[in-house]
Amino acid sequence: SAGVNDTDKELADAIAKELDRQQHEIELIASENIVSKAVLEAQGSVLTNKYAEGYPGKRYYGGCQFVDLAENLAIERAKKLFNCEYANVQPNSGSQANQSVFQALIKPGDTILGMSLDAGGHLTHGAKPNQSGKWFNAVQYGVREDTHLIDFDEVRALAKEHQPKLIIAGGSAYPRQIDFAKFREIADEVGASFMVDMAHFAGLVAGGAHPNPLDHCHVATTTTHKTLRGPRGGMVVTNDETIAKKVNSAVFPGIQGGPLMHVIAAKAVAFGEALTDDFRAYAAQVVKNARAMSEAAKASGLDLVSGGTDTHVALIDLRPKKVTGKDAEAALGRAYITCNKNGVPFDPEKPAITSGIRVGSPAGTTRGFGEAEFSQIGEWIGEIVDAVASGDPSSTEARIAEDVKALTARFPIYETLG
Ligand code: PLP
Repeated sequence: SAGVNDTDKELADAIAKELDRQQHEIELIASENIVSKAVLEAQGSVLTNKYAEGYPGKRYYGGCQFVDLAENLAIERAKKLFNCEYANVQPNSGSQANQSVFQALIKPGDTILGMSLDAGGHLTHGAKPNQSGKWFNAVQYGVREDTHLIDFDEVRALAKEHQPKLIIAGGSAYPRQIDFAKFREIADEVGASFMVDMAHFAGLVAGGAHPNPLDHCHVATTTTHKTLRGPRGGMVVTNDETIAKKVNSAVFPGIQGGPLMHVIAAKAVAFGEALTDDFRAYAAQVVKNARAMSEAAKASGLDLVSGGTDTHVALIDLRPKKVTGKDAEAALGRAYITCNKNGVPFDPEKPAITSGIRVGSPAGTTRGFGEAEFSQIGEWIGEIVDAVASGDPSSTEARIAEDVKALTARFPIYETLG
């Protein structure tokens, strides 16, 4: 039957242009990746047609025997990846994974303690405009001004003072490994549950390039589309049977209806890929590449939040260059380098402007870039920021745009799509 190229030229055109953009730009957005064709195929499959409220073997609809196979594969593979007993692979997003834990473990009005947005936390960890900040008494911890590392004295003091029911660790722009054991110690001191949102670094955990938070937390949530390199979606994992049961009820019927079975199938494929030796090599390379890019950026005179990275992501503080995150993001974009403006700790600028950019290595590493390519990218970032600071970046942008075209041509993606 006719495909989208035949039936809907306008929409097909948007997809073709996005494919071209992904092929020809350097993707540095730390929360993005490039999924395999197998993941794309599973997500684009007939499983999208199926309603399957409930869980494998206990559905509220008939005809679920084959989607059950897919969901069980995803669950079993997730358990192996994170060395845990229970996995719920149904959350439609990372935000909903977090929401499901909240519904499972706490009640509106309860106190939670999470990392503030400006220190690198996520909206769903208690930020004011988010449901987590509106429905709970959200207390927020930050980082130390001198080291940009989590201030555990502050975390302990806030925990003792506010007696949270739930403590949350993990973030969207925190470049360093987090001391999960210390968090658990504090949670135990005040009788709180401890949740780690490993959305950003889950792929590094799966690939053995980062400590596993499940060694210390009661429950962990994640997205499946960042370093884990699966379809957009969420997941909850735990070793605690009582929490697992509560989370299952919270996901369905608590906050969701029919699970996205095509996405769950694609999660199963991605988790299968993440169990391979190739993925272990990938995860190790992601960390090496982020470090290479950070070192090169530093060598070209840029400041890094916390002085560097030990994960997939780095935050560049542009204040010494008197350049805003907004202007740097736009200039890099004109050179076909895609990143996002990002607040830095104690940022004097508004969130729509910011003093920083966030750069990550997951997508570039997937397309085959190694340390040499990421060092080059770090240098280009330095050159472009200097050019913006000088007031006339156009010739530098144009020159680097040509170099970016040549680099992406050497590392093609999705050659047989489109
Ligand atoms: N948690 C963290 C740490 C994140 O960085 C994100 C996404 O940026 C989320 C949760 C939310 O995921 P989603 O965008 O799938 O709702």
